[in-house]
Amino acid sequence: AKSSEGTASFKTPTPENPIRICWNENPLGMSPKAQAVARETVAQGNRYPFTSTGELQNLIAADYGVPADHVLLTAGATEGIRAAIEALAAPDVQLVLPALTFDAAEENAKVNGITKITKVPMLKDWGIDLPAMKKAVADYDGPSVVYFVNPNNPTGAICKADDVEAWIKSKPAKTIFLMDEAYAEFADDKNFRSCAPLLKEGAENIVLLKTFSKLFAMAGMRVGWVVSTPEMVGKLREKTASNALNFPAVKAAIASWKDKEFIKLSRASNKTSREILLQALHALKFDYVPSNTNFIFHKVSVPLAEYQKHMKDAGILVGRAFPPADEYCRVSLGTPEEMTYVAKTMLELRKKGLV
Ligand code: PLP
Repeated sequence: AKSSEGTASFKTPTPENPIRICWNENPLGMSPKAQAVARETVAQGNRYPFTSTGELQNLIAADYGVPADHVLLTAGATEGIRAAIEALAAPDVQLVLPALTFDAAEENAKVNGITKITKVPMLKDWGIDLPAMKKAVADYDGPSVVYFVNPNNPTGAICKADDVEAWIKSKPAKTIFLMDEAYAEFADDKNFRSCAPLLKEGAENIVLLKTFSKLFAMAGMRVGWVVSTPEMVGKLREKTASNALNFPAVKAAIASWKDKEFIKLSRASNKTSREILLQALHALKFDYVPSNTNFIFHKVSVPLAEYQKHMKDAGILVGRAFPPADEYCRVSLGTPEEMTYVAKTMLELRKKGLV
């Protein structure tokens, strides 16, 4: 039935059925083609997925223009990050990362005996301080692992490709760059580029970490991939649960990779939702970090816990706290219908004097 708020699929949220814009999920649901093939594949759950796993690996490698042994499939980018940290961990290794970024690399470093963790303070605009990152590497005698999320989470900001590439190409001694591009496909800023072409050109100091969770709306299926040198891929493979991927997920990933229409929709829908939220942020005069992702990091006028509660009472779950950015809220982008409702709610809270 059509609700008064919009399309047939949109339902006014309730505490039991909230609008979930707290975990940077893709609200569209998987590509219909991926859903259909995943369902069919459940009936073949008695079979090992080897052939399809190989097909997915080949598909990905072909798009990057590298041989298949440069690609490793992982259970989400999370497994790629963990495997990379475990493969590279050593008593003298330093992990360098921005103070505010996705936490998996740091968490894995801590449990894998990396004691030197250098967190580089953010710039005033919440961008990554590249000169300071470089200095942290240059000032250290031992090997460095740089974890670099571009565009970054939770800020949504990009780091200029020209600068990032120049640093990678300068080949700092004993340094490996873990380039996490989970959100790259949502970036519109012309200064952003994926580092993937460097891998095609033969770069030996990059581990590119990718996921089917965001653009492809497959977070629950747990599929990701790594692109690097065959030697590095071999090292990471030793740290992954081999053959960990399940057959329906692999089949869904293949279908999603080929579904250009869904990819276009996924980007377009995200862009529309971003515009809707930006309008509300402008109306409320909330500062924000320009977003190149499927979320926006914006300032709130009241303590975050209070803001979260007002939104939750209205059936909307926004992001957690991200210290040291204590005045900021990370809002993932739902469907345009959901974001219209979110924007309306925000303006109503302002009218009531609550935000
Ligand atoms: N890398 C970044 C920057 C992320 O934000 C996330 C998830 O939010 C991940 C990796 C993990 O993704 P996956 O679902 O593929 O494990």
